[in-house]
Amino acid sequence: MNKSPDAQRMEKIVSLCKRRGFIFQSSEIYGGLSGCWDYGPLGVELKRNLKNYWWHVIVHERDDVVGMDGSILMNRAVWKASGHEDTFTDPMVDCRSCKARLRADQVIEKKGGRQCPNCGGKDLTEPRPFNLMFKTYVGATEDESSLTYLRPETAQAIFVQFKNILEVSRKKLPFGIAQIGKAFRNEINPRNFTFRSREFEQMELEYFCRAEEGTKLLDYWLEERLKFYENIGIPREKLHARKVPDEESAFYSKGTYDIEYDFPFGRQELEGVAYRTDYDLSQHQNASGKSLEYFDEETKQRFVPHVVEPSAGVDRAVLALICEAYSEDEAPDEKGKMETRLVLRFHPRIAPIKCAVFPLLKNKEPLVAKAKEIVDLLRPHMNVFYDESGAIGRRYRRQDEIGTPFGVTVDFETLGEKDAALRDTVTLRERDSMKQERVPVKDLPRILLSRIS
Ligand code: ATP
Repeated sequence: MNKSPDAQRMEKIVSLCKRRGFIFQSSEIYGGLSGCWDYGPLGVELKRNLKNYWWHVIVHERDDVVGMDGSILMNRAVWKASGHEDTFTDPMVDCRSCKARLRADQVIEKKGGRQCPNCGGKDLTEPRPFNLMFKTYVGATEDESSLTYLRPETAQAIFVQFKNILEVSRKKLPFGIAQIGKAFRNEINPRNFTFRSREFEQMELEYFCRAEEGTKLLDYWLEERLKFYENIGIPREKLHARKVPDEESAFYSKGTYDIEYDFPFGRQELEGVAYRTDYDLSQHQNASGKSLEYFDEETKQRFVPHVVEPSAGVDRAVLALICEAYSEDEAPDEKGKMETRLVLRFHPRIAPIKCAVFPLLKNKEPLVAKAKEIVDLLRPHMNVFYDESGAIGRRYRRQDEIGTPFGVTVDFETLGEKDAALRDTVTLRERDSMKQERVPVKDLPRILLSRIS
């Protein structure tokens, strides 16, 4: 069967990710571990740039948000109070013919009944709830008393530390607490590369407010989050704010949006933005017996704040960035013959390497020395890469393929050998347009910094 262009595109993306060191299968030499992935040298830079930019926009650029970093293991009581122990489940169905374990929504519904998407078999069990939390034991005994879970979301640490953070930060409503960290879900069918993983990272903000502000803040945060994705290079027309119908959202929610992106494998959720009312804090207040109320100095009232939650997946955003950046165009090779050029058109802000520096020839000591001097000049400001091997065109291609937005070439003119006026100038090449300009070395940090941010 011929694969669709989107499926082929996705295959090329997965293969590029491995070939160039963005993403590898976890434990690969042992056959992997389903739903787990490792980020290689370039993937970790991309992911870090994304998280740093989120932190910058959500925490550093605002007066009304502070950060925290909670533990992954928490008291089991947290997961009882939050409702996860009883209700954090997906309906699961078993196929008695091929033994596949399926999420109920993957079962094919046909006129003649339900069908297994794997083998076409019709002998399927009734759906039953499967809890997605990974169990573990804390301490030397493995029994009910030591049982807890790997956190399935980062948000609960924020709710249970609400009072401590309120006291130390002395913030007034509305204000937020932000966190980035790992989360774990024993997904029934991990799939679509890193999209549905069993171990992943979240970037979550809990923005606390008065009840009457909730609905307005939900719209505000939805817009802020859409802008965020645009600012990292995902065009608005590929983003969709889906209003989640009441019957699909949690009973306590007074409005939920899914921000979706057009992945090659379909339109899928990147982030959820939900107005969760005072449900979470009230649950923990009731279960712990500790007050999680806010005291309003002006009105002298005490109440449990409401919360709006933008909850984003780091790995899904990284995958969207790679899918969006991946492109093929035509460019001349060394001999002027047109060939297919593979380019990752990352926004310079999140590109793993910002600038590559090349001496024209590796066996000409003054060129090499000058190029290394430029690397030292740029290094304090950005992630740079030095490359002296192979023809210059091939070096450009290697950088295009990993999304490096700028390339600087040191040639004989830089040394002032041909024209004294060109001494200490270099060629600056832009990845997408492949345009080259001549710029003074001393201006490089300023020019590049202005184009990166
Ligand atoms: P889905 O419906 O796709 O399972 P969800 O609605 O359960 O996702 P939330 O609980 O709202 O997801 O989690 C917030 C965010 O965390 C999601 O928008 C997504 O970006 C990320 N996320 C959730 N589950 C996974 C997963 N298994 N792998 C990677 N990222 C995930």
